[in-house]
Formats: sequence, C-alpha cells, structure tokens
Amino acid sequence: MIRAIIFDFDGVIHDTFDFHRMKLKQFTGHEISKESYRDIHDGNFYEHEDNVFINTDWDGYVKFIHPEQSALKIKDEIRQVLIELSKKYELFIISSGCAKNISDYLGNNGISKIFTEVLGFENHKSKVDKFKVLFDKYGLCHDNCVFITDTLGDILEANKVGVETVAVDFGFHSKERLEKGRPYKIISCFNEIIPVIDSNF
Ligand SMILES: [Mg+2]
Repeated sequence: MIRAIIFDFDGVIHDTFDFHRMKLKQFTGHEISKESYRDIHDGNFYEHEDNVFINTDWDGYVKFIHPEQSALKIKDEIRQVLIELSKKYELFIISSGCAKNISDYLGNNGISKIFTEVLGFENHKSKVDKFKVLFDKYGLCHDNCVFITDTLGDILEANKVGVETVAVDFGFHSKERLEKGRPYKIISCFNEIIPVIDSNF
C-alpha cells in the first residue's frame, strides 16, 4: 500500500535542462553538448567519471542560480496534480540540487505546504542515502513508497534500495534510456501519475 510519493525535482516537477546547462556554463566556463549533459545523468551526477563539473563549487553555484531558480513558474497542470496527490499521499522531494532553492521555488509557487520534506545535496550527494534518511525519519520502506524521476541514474539508485520507480519521459532522458533501469512504468504526461499510483500498487 503506497503511503508516500518521493519526487525527483529537475526534469520532473520543472524542466530545468536548458536552465542548468546555461547557468553551469556561465558559472564554470564549461559548455557541454546536450548529449553529454544527458550522459552525465546516467549514474549519480556527482560520481560520473565524465562529469566536467565534478569540481564545481556547488555552494557558490546554488547561490548564483537562487534568484532565477526560485522564481521559475511551475506549470499549472503539474501544480494541480501535486495538490491532488497531496490529499492522499505524503509527498517528498529528493534532489541532487539545492533543497533551499527548491523550497523557495515551491513557496513562490504556493505549494510548499504540500511537501513534508525536501532533501537536496546539502543532506547527501547520493540518493541512496537520501532514501535511507526518509526511511528512518518517516517509517518508510520499499513497499510503501514510490519514486518519480526522469533519469536512468536515479532509477538505478532507487533500485539499490528496492523502491519502485515511475519514470517520466518528458525530462532529461528518453524512454529508451529509462528502460535500461527497468522502472515499474514509464509515463509521458504528468497527470498519468494519479491513475498509475491509485490503481497499480
Ligand atoms: Mg531529474
């Protein structure tokens, strides 16, 4: 019985692919192709051997992007679905990004209260560890929560803790790439989350 839904942020709640690619270029001076940027999300972003951003000053970067990231406007449809889901499930976010920036984004979009907690890179760089924090703190386990993400790297991390993933193919990674992680299901519209979670778990 599903009690909680754990969301990834980038590429799921907000499509930040071009935003981060552009901001990382401004901040680090490195410009990488869209394909390379996709590739470094095949595993944990902070551990990928081809990640030219590995030595970035992340504390500096998240401060640099804070004004613009927190001011991004959420899509109406996504906002409505999240509100709907929050009536039945506890909602969490675990992100490789900055929890403060994401919390301020949620606040500016009027939905901070529907999330129980947001964990970012401040907590742990590994999502495996972030899952474990939520398990311990909220009594969650692999069979009472589900993870929603847009990247293969995230699916592989969820697999390590036995959490089923519903993957979305409108974010950073294509359906073909997501399939390699064997998610429970791949969806193409944000509102498909509701029937999938309501009926199949
Ligand atoms: Mg993502």
